[in-house]
Amino acid sequence: MPPLRDATRLTPALRSTTCPACGHHVAVRFYDGGQRPLATLAWPSSAEAARTMERLPLDFVRCVDCGHVFNASFDYAAVPYSDKPNLMFNRGTLWRDFIAAAQTAIAARVGGGPATVVEIGHGDGSFLRALVAHLPAARLIGFDPHGATSAPGDGVTFERALFDPMHHMDALRPALVISRHVLEHFNDPLGFIQSLSFAASWHETSPLFYFEVPCVDRAIETLRTADFYYEHNSNFTTESFTRMLQRAQLSTEVIDHGYDGEVIYAIGRLSTQRAHAERAAAATSFDQAVRATAANIQAQLVPLAGRRTAIWGGTGKAAAFINAHGLDADRFPIVVDSDPDKVGTYVPGTGQPIRGRSWLVGNPVDVIIIPAHWRARDIVREMAAAGIAAELVLIEHGGRLIDYFRDPHPYREPAGAAARASGAA
Ligand SMILES: [Zn+2]
Repeated sequence: MPPLRDATRLTPALRSTTCPACGHHVAVRFYDGGQRPLATLAWPSSAEAARTMERLPLDFVRCVDCGHVFNASFDYAAVPYSDKPNLMFNRGTLWRDFIAAAQTAIAARVGGGPATVVEIGHGDGSFLRALVAHLPAARLIGFDPHGATSAPGDGVTFERALFDPMHHMDALRPALVISRHVLEHFNDPLGFIQSLSFAASWHETSPLFYFEVPCVDRAIETLRTADFYYEHNSNFTTESFTRMLQRAQLSTEVIDHGYDGEVIYAIGRLSTQRAHAERAAAATSFDQAVRATAANIQAQLVPLAGRRTAIWGGTGKAAAFINAHGLDADRFPIVVDSDPDKVGTYVPGTGQPIRGRSWLVGNPVDVIIIPAHWRARDIVREMAAAGIAAELVLIEHGGRLIDYFRDPHPYREPAGAAARASGAA
């Protein structure tokens, strides 16, 4: 391969932005289409309305890692999805043949039993309605806030709602999740697929999936720019579509093109990622424990407000503790710090003046709270050296405030030093 720089004298216009397909953060300018009106969703009703339409940036860049083409200035909120049908392609024979083949392929995988099939973004509902003939025993449910509604005799249910992965994956236990010509409109298609995958992992189910999007391989090869308009934030290449499925850790069985290479689809399973579910369980358990902790500590603080109590530390972790537990300046006005640079400033958020530690020599307190428990040992030494004593030194540990000298914890002085510090207190 010749060295690119010398051979072509190209200078890529680098963009630091996140690829919606693979999450890579470096892209280069691909097609600056200027400020243009919406192409498919606006439906202006007069020439004047058409001419005065809002212009939106076609700022297409290409991910250097997976080749995905996307609009770096896309804002999903600027696309006015409404009840107007977002029609795509056509009703031609080639298209019908492609759809029929896709339906045969996915129906064969679902089997003939009483399964539930979900389509996310069913649009005009034609795909799901046609699937009834292939899966007569299945329950077919479409989700689309702006999609078609069910008619009697459809044999399908159309919900005008968003599919909520965590809720619906459990409530419906779908055997198959379909999404066609939807992912390219999203801000974050990879994130969406990952959320489906996570919900499946959490609920220990592994439904089949069928995802289909337009493919821009040929548009790129042939310098076709008509493909790149605002509503399609994401323009998948074979490589970027494949990479997105890999990044979402799906078990992909088939990736192929249809409709003369203009669309790409994949069939596979949302595989169960046990490690994801375990991390989520650990995080949730931390979250719940912290909530319980906050209540414990609040209760312990109430009697301390009636005693002469100092907080040792007024910035960083100490400020986080003071704010998290609401140690306001009225109830807890005394804050000291070991660091002379902090003295004379105020605790962020609550406003106690931060005093030097030596203030406590002339103004002894009953209780000292050390929020930065990892520094507790040093602070206790400082107290001993400066002749500062308190009846009680408290640190946060295991979800409550504990007595530094009497309760068990891992931040204690080695035995000899502890005795000296305790003697000082
Ligand atoms: Zn990418």
